[in-house]
Amino acid sequence: MTHTPGARRGASCDRDSSTAEGAASTAGDDMYQLILELFPLCRSITGQGTRQTLEALRSRIPISVRGVPSGSMVLDWVVPPEWNIRGAYIQEISGRRLVDFAESNLHVMGYSTPVHHVMPVSELREHLFSIPEHPSWIPYRTSYYQENWGFCVRDSLLQTLTDETYEVCIDSDLAPGTLRYGELLIPGSCDREVLISTHICHPSLCNDNLSGIALAVQLAAYFMARENRYSYRFLFVPATIGALAWLSQNEGRLNVVSHGLVLAGVGDSGNITYKKSRRADTPIDRAMHEVLARSGDVYNEVDFSPYGYDERQYCSPGFDLPVGTFTRTPYGAYPEYHTSADDLSFVQPESLQDSFDKTSQALLLLEADRTYVNLKPHGEPQLGRRGLFEAVRGGGDPRAIEMAMLWVLSLSDGATSILRIAERAKLAFESVCEAATALAEAGLLLETSGYGTD
Ligand code: ZN
Repeated sequence: MTHTPGARRGASCDRDSSTAEGAASTAGDDMYQLILELFPLCRSITGQGTRQTLEALRSRIPISVRGVPSGSMVLDWVVPPEWNIRGAYIQEISGRRLVDFAESNLHVMGYSTPVHHVMPVSELREHLFSIPEHPSWIPYRTSYYQENWGFCVRDSLLQTLTDETYEVCIDSDLAPGTLRYGELLIPGSCDREVLISTHICHPSLCNDNLSGIALAVQLAAYFMARENRYSYRFLFVPATIGALAWLSQNEGRLNVVSHGLVLAGVGDSGNITYKKSRRADTPIDRAMHEVLARSGDVYNEVDFSPYGYDERQYCSPGFDLPVGTFTRTPYGAYPEYHTSADDLSFVQPESLQDSFDKTSQALLLLEADRTYVNLKPHGEPQLGRRGLFEAVRGGGDPRAIEMAMLWVLSLSDGATSILRIAERAKLAFESVCEAATALAEAGLLLETSGYGTD
């Protein structure tokens, strides 16, 4: 949805500010830079890598870092001990190192308990994970809630383990500590909120999940640089347990969440996949549909399912928040998923830019959505006499805007939002928005709600 400056009319369709737009044009490159910076850190659901990640984000946007102590109940779950790791290796008795955490943090299964033994190769093999179909890739594995240890290795290594014993060391600890997550509220002109959530718990993987972090940071910077009606709340949470922690701490005020998006896997070259909220027909679902359907790009729209990313928590039946999930290729549907091949070459600035453009457009659409009542509903008001045809000549297709005006007049009953009207009229939201603004300025419409109500 492009915005022609000449077509800009009233405040309701004014989608941008120059500061925000300036940052938007370089979003893909900025996001890639952040991914480069965060890539080396060994993130997990807790621990120093995640703390350092949140610190790095804080140098860009003013997030608050919240801490929840190990052992705390969050809804039906318990916050686990904090995991930290300093190093790990597998080596021959001669000292020749075969696997080293320093080479890739994917080599150690996340939340591995400490171990330092010389052990028979048969015992070691029970703790090794590889991908036979891709012998040069390292898999990504975790065991957060069941004590275990393991190494993730290239399958090609397994063929070379011919000694009887090996020295195995994981220098880690699991101890009472803190689960941390980042939260940023950008106040709007009202307290109704848009919730944007992304997970922050994967080590050196790019698409899952650094791309989601980068997109959330970019959107936060963008909405900080403009005046908004909605308040925007950004969450940078360890998957599952972080979302549960935030929900449990905010259970009493979730009714302010009007719209939401979970962001993940937004940097690969695949088409966009939008997964609808559990309710399926909320304004964010319809705004995303409007943006994607009019983009001219191939995209997928899928129904909610209780699996995937943190929409599992936000859309659980007790909360049922209007939160959709924005990804490109869905999790698990690309071979690089959860492997070392999800690296810096797997994400592209162009895809990141496109993800930023589509998500920001959908959110701006919701910013612009309004509900009106027709003040002259008896017969068609004479539009020409009020100068309305001239009024729209500044930009856009005059016939489309005239049709849009007729539709807006016909359907503005105080309960039907202009997004609904655009859907019913099969017109671009922007044309309907322009038309409604012109009609309101001419005194033919009264805004009954600053929001789409349905
Ligand atoms: Zn993942």
